Amino acid sequence: MYCGVDIGGTHTQIGAVDASGKVFDHEKLNTASFTQARDLVLTIAYTILRMAKVSGQKVEGIGVGCPNVNPRTGVLRNAANLKFKEEISLKDELAQYFPGIPVAVDNDANAAAVGERIYGKARNTDDFLCVTLGTGVGGGVFCNGKLVYGLNGMAGEIGHMIVEPNGRPCGCGRKGCLERYASAGGILDNYLEICTQNNATPQAATYRQVAEAAKTGDPLALLAFDKAARILGHALANIACVTAPTHIFVFGGVAQVGEILLAPLRKYFAENLLFCYKKTAEESPAVCIELSELMETLKDAAILGAAALARL
Ligand SMILES: [Zn+2]
Repeated sequence: MYCGVDIGGTHTQIGAVDASGKVFDHEKLNTASFTQARDLVLTIAYTILRMAKVSGQKVEGIGVGCPNVNPRTGVLRNAANLKFKEEISLKDELAQYFPGIPVAVDNDANAAAVGERIYGKARNTDDFLCVTLGTGVGGGVFCNGKLVYGLNGMAGEIGHMIVEPNGRPCGCGRKGCLERYASAGGILDNYLEICTQNNATPQAATYRQVAEAAKTGDPLALLAFDKAARILGHALANIACVTAPTHIFVFGGVAQVGEILLAPLRKYFAENLLFCYKKTAEESPAVCIELSELMETLKDAAILGAAALARL
């Protein structure tokens, strides 16, 4: 069996995955209850050992998805959404409990891309991009069959591409990053801005409420998603020039709205895509934008993404 560990600000999920990609054991920990990363790692190790003992299966590999981790060194530092302030190698710390077993650590966006590659729709393509839309915006890029890491493992941070010069302030200290328009918080800001422009009283105060309003056909909520789709569509058309992908897979909590976001996203992407990436016969784009299969059909997407890291 392979084990996938998804460390998030609220919960840490641990799952045991069989050869067919089925999660057959699952446990959820409260990340915030651990003040030391070492204690969390110890509990993760204990949980994996328990899962192996109960199932009678050998652990073949362990993958960990975690924000702000360096995939080259496995070191976690300055994670904005985690309490741990100490610098720690998650990889070495966990590996000491599992001698001889591969342990791979990467950020959650790369884990989603690797999960799509091993268990999802990207099994038959060497060139694709996985975009994660949630609290932030992240990206995992496969080019020539390889996950792109770059100099320090930070390649694919598409959420911090500047898309609006002098735009909304971002947590990274700059202005106008993609994340500020296409994340959950960004879409809420789009909505509030559109309400002001239309002299309308906002009917939603959270992203979830904007998404619910859009599902019932609220025109201002739909415009908030349309704005996110337009800005993201432009950004993805630009990224296509760099890596020439066959597919772009959309993943994460915001992607759960499905066609409310995907339909305008495909439209704006096609309108801005360079001619050489389009089919010549009909003007439909050759690059497909689709919902991640891990999200679409499998509920344990984050665990599978993490487990896949150990199989890459
Ligand atoms: Zn930023």
